[in-house]
Amino acid sequence: MDEKLMRTDAHWREQLTDEEYRITRQKGTERAFTGTYWDEKSKGTYVCASCGQALYDSGTKFDSGTGWPSFWAPVADDAVESLSDRSLGTERVEVRCNRCGAHLGHLFDDGPKPTGMRHCVNSASLKLVKHDEK
Ligand code: FE
Repeated sequence: MDEKLMRTDAHWREQLTDEEYRITRQKGTERAFTGTYWDEKSKGTYVCASCGQALYDSGTKFDSGTGWPSFWAPVADDAVESLSDRSLGTERVEVRCNRCGAHLGHLFDDGPKPTGMRHCVNSASLKLVKHDEK
């Protein structure tokens, strides 16, 4: 992983769209089945929409039926960080980009093999770099 990326709130306000800002910097959630990537099947690498760090490979993407892009593993253990999230009156695990701190989504333990994990991520937090575009 690259060094941590520290940016001011004003920087993110300027760089991101309103929807991206709401989700990545204010822990928002896009409505299910509305994001760009929930049904995306192209091969490629999903990078952080905020800082460009590689986060998830299309090979770990699966159809969770939730309406959000779902992955059973990040590209590297230190690509994302997980934090306890007690908002909404429940205890969940938040996942963030480990480089810039962007909120990605939440982590659940009901995913498929081999990990059994489900990274439930907002499309607005991601950008797909297709393999044939590299
Ligand atoms: Fe990032």
